[in-house]
Amino acid sequence: MTNGLAGVARVAGTPLLASDEPPVVDLRDGTDSPFVFLCEHASNRLPHALGDLGLPAEALERHIAWDPGAAPMALGLAEKLGGPAILQTYSRLVIDCNREPGLPDAITTLSEDTKIPGNEHLGDAARRQRVDAIWAPFHAAIDELVEARIAAGRPTVIVTLHSFTPVYRGVSRPWHVGIISSGDRRFAEAMLAALRRDPALVVGDDEPYSARDNVDYTIRRHGFERGLPHVMIEVRNDLIRTPGDVVGWVDRLAGALVESADAVGMPARQRN
Ligand SMILES: [Zn+2]
Repeated sequence: MTNGLAGVARVAGTPLLASDEPPVVDLRDGTDSPFVFLCEHASNRLPHALGDLGLPAEALERHIAWDPGAAPMALGLAEKLGGPAILQTYSRLVIDCNREPGLPDAITTLSEDTKIPGNEHLGDAARRQRVDAIWAPFHAAIDELVEARIAAGRPTVIVTLHSFTPVYRGVSRPWHVGIISSGDRRFAEAMLAALRRDPALVVGDDEPYSARDNVDYTIRRHGFERGLPHVMIEVRNDLIRTPGDVVGWVDRLAGALVESADAVGMPARQRN
């Protein structure tokens, strides 16, 4: 056996995920909306087989392991606007589902200033195992959902939810929220216009990251490449620490998303 799952299991010794561990994909149904909400960095969970990746517990709570607040935001928006949501349930440190799997930072050995010992000196089989066990099924689930919507003639806007750290490598970031696109700025422009109507809000255009930083994998693959409107939303994580904060951002983003959907001819409404 030289390839496929059996080959991975033989080389690595054990499967990455045991049968009693949660599935990679957390899919919440919802059809009454053009929006499909995605969250690649929803969780800081590690597969048991990887232990703690050589990191102290404190490091696994930080933004390097996940996007704090992003999952409740995605779920809150799905609830409020009636769309489905797909969350990836393992830490970005295992493999970053918003990257091409061949890029060095897909399985990073250094996140900001923290070395990730469990990711150093990984062989091809170990890398392949992470792609096969986590990255591939996550994107396959999105493919299935989005293709079914297209086949049914259902309008679809791809929305990914992220959060960013207020200080990165010692530099404070001024933005409260960042709007990022990939190849087609129509939906992002409408979001920027809607959010910038609030003078108290500092709204970043392709900040704190942009497609030039290779952070647009999901919106490019599932949105741009299908000709679908898309946006990646980044909220500064100190603004969404409490459930009340999250509700406030869900309300704000829901209003901007509905307005932007109207602007691209895919009407949406709020359910509550
Ligand atoms: Zn993220």
